[in-house]
Amino acid sequence: MALVISAKQKLKGFGGKENMENNKLRDEILELLWSMREKGSKSYAALIEGIQESEASDVLRKMEKAGMVAIHNDNVELTDKGEARSRDLTRRHRLAERLFHDVLDVGMQESEETACEVEHFLSPSVTDSVCSFLGHPPTCPHGKPIPRGDCCLKYKNEVKPLVVQLKEFDVGGKGRIVFIVPSENSRLERLASMGIVPGSVIRLKQKRPSFVLEIDETTLAVDSLIAEEIYVKGQK
Ligand SMILES: [Zn+2]
Ligand SMILES: [Zn+2]
Repeated sequence: MALVISAKQKLKGFGGKENMENNKLRDEILELLWSMREKGSKSYAALIEGIQESEASDVLRKMEKAGMVAIHNDNVELTDKGEARSRDLTRRHRLAERLFHDVLDVGMQESEETACEVEHFLSPSVTDSVCSFLGHPPTCPHGKPIPRGDCCLKYKNEVKPLVVQLKEFDVGGKGRIVFIVPSENSRLERLASMGIVPGSVIRLKQKRPSFVLEIDETTLAVDSLIAEEIYVKGQK
């Protein structure tokens, strides 16, 4: 699949010359604020420490002026405007990680670094296509939630998904497990002990009353809840 990077998607920045870098820094700050908030933190000091760039406080002040963040004492809060962009960036970053890591088999660190670049350029419609293509994954490979997009809510399948939940997979079909998103962490170990791990090639034998699949010569049964957590890419 070709990743289209749209030139039109150039960010509206602060204006001026040295601002490509500043805009990138601004986006890094927005993204860090998002993941800090997931952990319940909005500390100004922690933010500056996490960014490790000498211009971070200057850029933050500009962001405050531009109405993206509100700074009170030691707290930095996203405004609605900042929140919307931060959410988009996080969504693009985590989807790109899934794409590179799980589908294209790029190593974890390289996936992460590439995601950091790509997140600035993916257009909204390409982002939704990548999301649909990946079967609307709920988390990134690190297990962090991917903010939902229009595509996930509407479940419109204009893009034929490459990766689907085992629940949606055709009976008789053969596929490779691309990723597993367990609702309970303990489950991953139990599935692994049965050979249900990313990379395993499965054949789906039946869906009712339970999901029966074959891995190598072994036949296994899982319930439908688990079949929703296993993402599979079809194979010939
Ligand atoms: Zn991640
Ligand atoms: Zn989606």
